[in-house]
Amino acid sequence: MSQGVPLTEESRADDPEIDRDNDDSTHEIADDIAYKRLAIVNVVFVGQPGAGDREWVLIDAGLPGFAGAIKHAASERFGEESRPAAILMTHGHFDHVGSLETLADDWDAPIYAHLLEQPYLDGRSAYPPPDPTVGGGLMALTSPLFPPSPVNVSRRLRLLPDDHSAPHMNGWRWIHTPGHTPGHVSFWREGDRSLIVGDAFVTTRQESAYAAIFQKPEMHGPPMYYTSDWDSARESVQALAALEPELVVTGHGRAMKGPEMRGALHILARDFDEIARPKHGRYAREPAHADASGTTSVPPKE
Ligand SMILES: [Zn+2]
Ligand SMILES: [Zn+2]
Repeated sequence: MSQGVPLTEESRADDPEIDRDNDDSTHEIADDIAYKRLAIVNVVFVGQPGAGDREWVLIDAGLPGFAGAIKHAASERFGEESRPAAILMTHGHFDHVGSLETLADDWDAPIYAHLLEQPYLDGRSAYPPPDPTVGGGLMALTSPLFPPSPVNVSRRLRLLPDDHSAPHMNGWRWIHTPGHTPGHVSFWREGDRSLIVGDAFVTTRQESAYAAIFQKPEMHGPPMYYTSDWDSARESVQALAALEPELVVTGHGRAMKGPEMRGALHILARDFDEIARPKHGRYAREPAHADASGTTSVPPKE
C-alpha cells in the first residue's frame, strides 16, 4: 500500500467551501484554468471563460461514456457549441482516453501527444500489463470499463511540437515526464507557475477505492497499478518539484496550491522510493521497456 504525504483542504485550489461531494461542478482554479472530475479522473479546460469556438483546449478525455458531460461543461464555460482548438493528452491510459474518439469526432478536433505515447493511441501497441499485486482500488472501480482493445485515433493524431510549445496554449510548454507511461507529458506555465501533471503524481490515494471516491487530499506518486518504470517516475517527480509550482492540477484528486502543496511535493520527490515506489511487484525493481513503436519488453510476473 502506498503512503501519501498529508495535505489539508486548506490547500485546495478551488473553493474549499464547495461541498466535497458536489462533483458535478466545473472547478475554476485560475482565470483560464478549470477542471472537471468524471467519477475518478479529471479533465482540464484551458482558455478564458466565454472564449468561443476554437479558442480553448481540452487536456485529457476521461472515462468512456462522459463525452456528453464534457461537452456540456465546455458549452457552459466557453459558449454554446464551442469546440476546442485541440485535445492535448498527458498520456493514453484508458481512464484518460475513454471519451476521446467521440469528442474528437464530434468536435472535429486534432489530438496531440508525445512521440512515445502515440503507439498506444494509434492501435499499434498495448501498455505493459498492469500489476494487480500493488493495490487495486482504482482497478476495482474501473475494471468494468476496461476497453476490449487499444484506442485508435490515428486519423487525428499529431505530435507535440519539438520546440516544447503547447499547441493553442499561449505561454505554456510541455515537459516530458515519463515513468507512469513512456510518453507521459506535463504542461507548465512559468508566468503564474501553473502545472498540469496528468498522473506523474496525484493528490489522492488511488490504491484505495474509498480514497479514490472521497478524495482525501494527500500527495502521492503515480497510480501504482499502472506505473511500469519507477526510476523514470522518480526523476519526473523530481523535475516537476524543482519547478516550484504554485498550482498543480493532477489526473486524480483535487487541484492543490500554495506552500503546503509545494512542501508535500518536495517530500515526495526526496523520499520517492520510500513513499511512492512499491516494495514488491512486477515493476518494483525492473521496468518495462518501450520505444517509438510501443512496448518492447516487460519483466516476468513475480
Ligand atoms: Zn495513468
Ligand atoms: Zn489516470
